[in-house]
Amino acid sequence: MANHLFDAIRAAAAREAVFIETAEGRRWTYGDMLEFSGRLAGALQGLGVTPGDRVAVQVEKSPEALMLYLACLRAGAVYLPLNTAYTLAELDYFIGDAEPRLVVVAPKAAEGVRTVAGRHGAQVETLDEAGGGSLLVLAADAGADFPDAARGAEDLAAILYTSGTTGRSKGAMLTHDNLLSNALTLRDYWRFTGADRLIHALPIFHTHGLFVATNVTLLAGASMYLLPKFDAGEVLRLMENASVMMGVPTFYVRLLQHPGLTRTAAEGMRLFVSGSAPLLAETHRSFAERTGHAILERYGMTETNMNTSNPYDGERIAGTVGFPLPGVSLRVSEPEIGRSVPDGETGMIEVKGPNVFAGYWRMPEKTAAEFRADGFFITGDLGKIDARGYVHIVGRGKDLVISGGYNIYPKEVESEIDAMAGVVESAVIGVPHPDFGEGVTAVVVREKGSALDEAAVLDGLRERLARYKQPKRVLFIDDLPRNTMGKVQKNVLREAYKDLYR
Ligand code: ATP
Ligand code: MG
Repeated sequence: MANHLFDAIRAAAAREAVFIETAEGRRWTYGDMLEFSGRLAGALQGLGVTPGDRVAVQVEKSPEALMLYLACLRAGAVYLPLNTAYTLAELDYFIGDAEPRLVVVAPKAAEGVRTVAGRHGAQVETLDEAGGGSLLVLAADAGADFPDAARGAEDLAAILYTSGTTGRSKGAMLTHDNLLSNALTLRDYWRFTGADRLIHALPIFHTHGLFVATNVTLLAGASMYLLPKFDAGEVLRLMENASVMMGVPTFYVRLLQHPGLTRTAAEGMRLFVSGSAPLLAETHRSFAERTGHAILERYGMTETNMNTSNPYDGERIAGTVGFPLPGVSLRVSEPEIGRSVPDGETGMIEVKGPNVFAGYWRMPEKTAAEFRADGFFITGDLGKIDARGYVHIVGRGKDLVISGGYNIYPKEVESEIDAMAGVVESAVIGVPHPDFGEGVTAVVVREKGSALDEAAVLDGLRERLARYKQPKRVLFIDDLPRNTMGKVQKNVLREAYKDLYR
């Protein structure tokens, strides 16, 4: 019977080719993948998981965890990965919201999770990163020839919760075809083949590491080094035998801090991809100087998979996220009314295509509010399209500062501050102000030893920006608060400085 996504994965799999290699040298061929994911799917079925059931998974990154994702596809279940940092209280919310049949956790967490899961009628099994756990015991007894459940293009493959950067995480319902269509597009756009070996140091509970990295590798029949986390030294060591790396901007910043990053070290690599958060133009330039590689930046989100990418062959422009991917329609509109803005002007980015999700889990009103009548999804990101067609992300709609009735795009102010000598990076936020509604506020990270102060930053901006865009205050901080995907948490900053002007 047809299984939309897994049939395509199966068709690309050459049994003897290597799929996963770990840092300790554990190896899984595509044949191993087919056999093991089949046994795991059998174990799921034995536990009563039927097509459409959710399987929530909060485990450390491991080959077995990826096999569990594939097993869910094969059993027709909806895979629901959860950030390993979530506490028991947060888990309670997600389990209550998603109502999974089964929750898979690390053995050490099982006892606590059982109490929570029991409240919501879910069973608990375990899986650890060393290849142990109760689910694997069940898998060992199941047959390797699992007959895949029938799943069509529109059936759900996964529910992925958004990163929670702007508020409570929402469950995005992703269909088999959302995932398959986007992975095939990226495979071809980025020229993935069976000869590629990807350095995979991203978490696998997020769209970047799970879908972009893993599905693209699978559909190319390529292989990957699966690393538990990012370590610059380890990544540099593996580069010699790898061809591609996918990372968040922080990975590139940390590689640049390592003396081992040289032209020779990156010689065998053909592609470096960045996404999930904005890559500073400065990082792009420094990386190109050190290695000769122009990082390829792309833009996507949990709800839509990937929307745009800088070109493989053409110019990869720092500070842009490139062109809409084949099959993806992208427009920029006036946020309130949805009418398109003229080219070059900033507005709300909206997208439509086979990559766009089926809605937020059990939030029909929220879903309806985020789509236009003609089917375009309102991303919440502000951006513009330049004369050459490159898309620029200006920031999130929720981070827009409105001061004295004027709109201020934080990125414009941040770019000016970042260009000053002695500045590592900055974040511009709006916080409550008695006269202006919001006061433009700059939070700046200084280079070590820099004597830059508030007056100097304000002086530097005076001639550069209209008065209403100039910060009312400039504050200094050691590091900007970031989440696991390297996203700056502006809500944390807004909360920290909420009384600044009171
Ligand atoms: P939440 O929706 O829960 O507030 P989130 O939007 O951070 O969290 P994700 O779906 O993980 O959750 O992230 C998608 C967002 O990440 C995009 O909407 C965009 O703001 C940002 N993003 C992704 N890639 C890029 C990029 N290359 N440049 C700038 N921003 C990016
Ligand atoms: Mg979002």
